[in-house]
Amino acid sequence: MSEKKPISIITNYKECPHKCWFCIFKNHKMNNVYGPTEESIKKFLIKYKNLGYNKFSISGSDVIFEQYTGYQLWWDNFHKICRELEFKYSIHTKSRIRFISYLKNDFLYKIVLSTEKLSDIASYIYWLQEIKVDKEIRIVKVIDDKTTKEDVSNYIQFAKLTDIQLTFKQLHGYNDNNNFKTYKHMFKNKYDKLVFLDDGDYNIYLMPDGKEYDKFIIE
Ligand code: SF4
Repeated sequence: MSEKKPISIITNYKECPHKCWFCIFKNHKMNNVYGPTEESIKKFLIKYKNLGYNKFSISGSDVIFEQYTGYQLWWDNFHKICRELEFKYSIHTKSRIRFISYLKNDFLYKIVLSTEKLSDIASYIYWLQEIKVDKEIRIVKVIDDKTTKEDVSNYIQFAKLTDIQLTFKQLHGYNDNNNFKTYKHMFKNKYDKLVFLDDGDYNIYLMPDGKEYDKFIIE
C-alpha cells in the first residue's frame, strides 16, 4: 500500500459554514458544483478496492458535520458503502464534532483537525481523549507570515503532551515570508509524530463532479 497514492473524496453539498482565510476551495472550479453522488462514491471505491485499497480520506465542505443530523440519511448510506466494500476512512475537518456515536463509529479510523490557534483546539482534543474516542488524532496548522517560532514550539509541546500527530502545512500560492522553510529546518526532528507538509498534490481526488483528478487545483 505504501507506494500507492492515497485516495481522497472531496464533498461539496452546500456552502461550507466555516470561512477559513486559507481556504483554497472558495476560488476552486468545483466551488459551485454539488456532489459527489453516492453512486459516484461507490463506483470510485469499488475501483480502488479492486486495486487493493481499504482506506480513504473525506474532506471538503464541513456542512456534513455542522448539520450532521440533517445529513443522517447521507451518512447512513455512506457507511453502508463502507461496510459493503470494507473501507475505513479519515475525516479532515475544521468542525469540532460532538456526536459521540458518530465519532466512535467503526469506519472512522482517524480524525484530522485543522486549527488556527492552539487555544481553539486544545479543549476539544482533551474532550476527545476524555470520551476515549480511540481513533488516531492529527492536528494541522497552516504556517503563515505571522506564525512565530513560539507558536510552532507550543504546538509541538501540546502534541507531545497529548500524544497526537501534528502537521505543519505550506499553503498553496501564499507568501509566508519563508516561515515554513525556516521552521521546517528548525523543528523537523523534534517529535516523531511531526510532519512538515510541503505544498503539493499527494492524493488522487474524487471531486464533487464525480470525476477523478490527480491534482486538487484544477486549471
Ligand atoms: S473548513 Fe475547509 S472548506 Fe470550509 S472554509 Fe475552511 S478550508 Fe474551506
